[in-house]
Amino acid sequence: MTQNLRVTVWNEFRHERHRDDVRRHYPEGIHQVLAHCLRADGMTVRTATLDEPEHGLTEAVLTETDVLTWWGHGAHREVDDAIVDRVQQHVLDGMGLIVLHSGHFSKIFKRLMGTTCELRWREIGEKERVWVVSPSHPVAAGLPEYFEIPHTEMYGEPFDIPAPDELVFISWYQGGEVFRSGCAYRRGRGKIFYFSPGHETLPIYHQPEVQRVIVNAVRWAAPLGWPAVASTRIQMKRAVPLEPV
Ligand code: ZN
Repeated sequence: MTQNLRVTVWNEFRHERHRDDVRRHYPEGIHQVLAHCLRADGMTVRTATLDEPEHGLTEAVLTETDVLTWWGHGAHREVDDAIVDRVQQHVLDGMGLIVLHSGHFSKIFKRLMGTTCELRWREIGEKERVWVVSPSHPVAAGLPEYFEIPHTEMYGEPFDIPAPDELVFISWYQGGEVFRSGCAYRRGRGKIFYFSPGHETLPIYHQPEVQRVIVNAVRWAAPLGWPAVASTRIQMKRAVPLEPV
């Protein structure tokens, strides 16, 4: 490899600016914690946030992005549809997308899934046990058979998503529910991974196993032959026979 993987970490970045209970764990924003662990793995990382022009996701930025990570919660509706169109096109052209926690309800994830992406939730700080159900999957590399998050927000089934192309994690919660917490998809030339742990008032993104998953997911979602080459975009047109017919 001659060039580092180029990652853009996108964050809504509202809670951290206005709420002490969030700033306590993420004083610089969730995006900076994620960016730090990806850089520590040798990736070239930039960040982008909702309140920047074009949400920080200009055509130029996305063209230089191999994998985009997405964290949003309270302001999904403020994301411009034109930017959602743009991100979707880049995913179809090969950019990887990692959707985290409450990003399940983002416009871009719902667009790519085509379902409501609704789920059940509960916020009482209970324990979560994340089971690896596909130990040979690259996103599970280096993980034990399960790991625990001492205090989490419960996300429970039914989760209204299409059946994942590959299911990597299933979470169990102290309160009794289960959830498909690590789901891999392919759309066009792009790879998508959804990972549910990561509530804003809990230090979940500081946990080493969680960081391991995110690093693994970014590596897995990198386009084949990255950096992605725009000229490889699949042209859908009337097919000419390859042999005389
Ligand atoms: Zn949450």
